[in-house]
Amino acid sequence: MAAPTVRFAPSPTGRIHIGNARTALLNALYARKLGGRFILRFDDTDLERSRQEYVEAIDVDLRWLGVEPDVTVRQSERFALYDEAAAHLKARGRLYPCYETAEELDRRRKRQQARNLPPVYDRAALDLTDADRARLEAEGRRPHWRFKLDWVPVIWIDLIRGECRIDCASLSDPVLIREDGTYLYTLPSVADDLDLGVTHIIRGEDHVTNTAVQIQIFEALGGAAPIFGHHNLLTTASGEGLSKRSGALSIGGLREAGIESLAVAALAVLTGSSDSVHPVTSLDELAAIFDFTHISRNPARFDPAEVETLSARTIHGLPFADVAERLAALGIAGEKAEPFWLAVRGNLERLADAETWWGIVEGPIEPAREDPEFLSEALDLLPSEPWDAGIWSAWTGQIKAATGRKGKALFHPLRLALTGRETGPELAALLPLIGRAKAVDRLAGRDA
Ligand code: GLU
Repeated sequence: MAAPTVRFAPSPTGRIHIGNARTALLNALYARKLGGRFILRFDDTDLERSRQEYVEAIDVDLRWLGVEPDVTVRQSERFALYDEAAAHLKARGRLYPCYETAEELDRRRKRQQARNLPPVYDRAALDLTDADRARLEAEGRRPHWRFKLDWVPVIWIDLIRGECRIDCASLSDPVLIREDGTYLYTLPSVADDLDLGVTHIIRGEDHVTNTAVQIQIFEALGGAAPIFGHHNLLTTASGEGLSKRSGALSIGGLREAGIESLAVAALAVLTGSSDSVHPVTSLDELAAIFDFTHISRNPARFDPAEVETLSARTIHGLPFADVAERLAALGIAGEKAEPFWLAVRGNLERLADAETWWGIVEGPIEPAREDPEFLSEALDLLPSEPWDAGIWSAWTGQIKAATGRKGKALFHPLRLALTGRETGPELAALLPLIGRAKAVDRLAGRDA
């Protein structure tokens, strides 16, 4: 199969959340897996609601997630293409002017409902003569433009949902251009997908009906419709949808809270699929696991508390090379950095917490001395350097033999004196990092 071209098409009217990340990642990982192209398209034809700050924030959020677009386009810079597509449709009688006001349409819908008819646009505007239109325009009315649907069932084989069928005879002809000449999302999206050679449109299942309409528009523009895949939407555990405006689980918010991007990615991709949600160490690993056929048709419910746990579990498995730069930014560098990371990662909830443990290893700390007599005995038995990885068990073995202590009575005073903490990473790994000189001072009760 030829490499796919996919796109993620957010409107920059807010920050993206984990549900949007799901769409972005399903596209990006599909392209990654098959050596395809990933396009980031900003759907910013709504010039009032779109904001540059959101364009920038979305870009930052995606890069943080590891999603690097091959191409970025903005619909606000591509109006000529949409005008051309609109002209093409008008010339073929597929885009027709309508003059009804919102109130008129509303009254008509209510009449239809009262008679138990489906609230579908009745195409009254198609009966207008040139003279009617001229009169309406003279009254100051401006047309909005509707796409004339073919009243046939549209059928496609969805990558995720299998065979889908929507009968366009039950839909209103969709408005593509508003009275003020601005475009709604439907037509520009198709014009762009054709122009940019998009082969696969992977998006949320809230777009299923749009797809039937858009397949007809692709064909009316003389193109072939791409392959579609509609994924289930992420909801909270109580079944609520995620909203851009509420900021619930926004990618920026998760990043600022110190959540690992790989945990967000794994949750976004694996929730609501037959693959269990588990930590991954790279997007390639995630790309290898995910499969459209594993995605369920039920809503993908997840518990926000899972974000925290999965983030911690992700950290516990991250190799040093993958975090070296971030550790260096926290001042954790040098030859000790790698063994230090391996010693502490299993105890971290946030990567930034490594700084606390680095401070403990490097000192100074205020040692907490419990049982000074015992500590001075332990100090006398502390082997001289060089130390190897077995130093902790050798030393505590000797203390045990000399004092008869074991378990908590043996280890707890040592941990407290050496780290100033009740709990923490394995001392077998920490002691060689602390080193003999500091260990001596701390056992003797001196700040070091
Ligand atoms: N801007 C649309 C949205 O965010 C894009 C839908 C699509 O992928 O075609 O819903």
